[in-house]
Amino acid sequence: MLEASSILEEKNKELVNYLKTHGYIKSPEVEKAFLETPRHLFVPENMLRYAYVNEPLPIGYGQTISQPSVVALMTELLSPKKGEKILEIGTGSGWQAAILARIVGDEGIVYTIERVRELAKFAKKNLEKLGIKSVRIICGDGSEGLKEYAPFDKIIYTAAVPKIPQFILDQLKKYGKIVAPVGKEDVQKMVVIEKIGKNKLKTTEYPGFFVFVPLKGKYGFK
Ligand code: SAM
Repeated sequence: MLEASSILEEKNKELVNYLKTHGYIKSPEVEKAFLETPRHLFVPENMLRYAYVNEPLPIGYGQTISQPSVVALMTELLSPKKGEKILEIGTGSGWQAAILARIVGDEGIVYTIERVRELAKFAKKNLEKLGIKSVRIICGDGSEGLKEYAPFDKIIYTAAVPKIPQFILDQLKKYGKIVAPVGKEDVQKMVVIEKIGKNKLKTTEYPGFFVFVPLKGKYGFK
């Protein structure tokens, strides 16, 4: 009989295969990161059996771990590279941050901000299970960005944002990129903003609509 951990490992491989065949995972770096970052380590115990279903799941405090296909899509859109410095706004249970950390490696760093203290602690524990050291979790209002560690190569919002403020664009390096669900509180578009010159931006929208939990805080939804 297979042990519980090898069953979960198999389920992770099946999920990755699904994400590949449906075009969400495109690059070998993202595939490797998903395989090395099992989602079941980032869900509460009562959600374990659903860890490899392609759905967002509750993680407590009215928040969710994002849907695997959305995490794959956003990671591909962000195109993280070895050695980069990335800011994530909305840590949740830490899965997206862990995937990014796998890709940027020990030479890179992922700063991630979470406003719910208990979730920041849960994410820290989850990252420790995998021995991931290149993530710094900050408990605070991510809607303000993280000026003290700016500029970043990439910025990813994993909560719905009404609009990207200029001061966030200022925290992005030249040739850097932002991926964010932008729009209303109940529905958003996935937006990719690239800084292609000192004050020049290229904005593209991914087709379709998304539903993220809202970004709260000073520059989020009231
Ligand atoms: N990144 C997560 C993952 O890997 O599954 C999913 C994050 S969840 C969809 C969005 C998170 O954003 C929630 O944990 C929520 O508490 C957090 N959040 C909302 N507003 C925030 C703010 N102003 N600053 C920091 N975190 C915020």
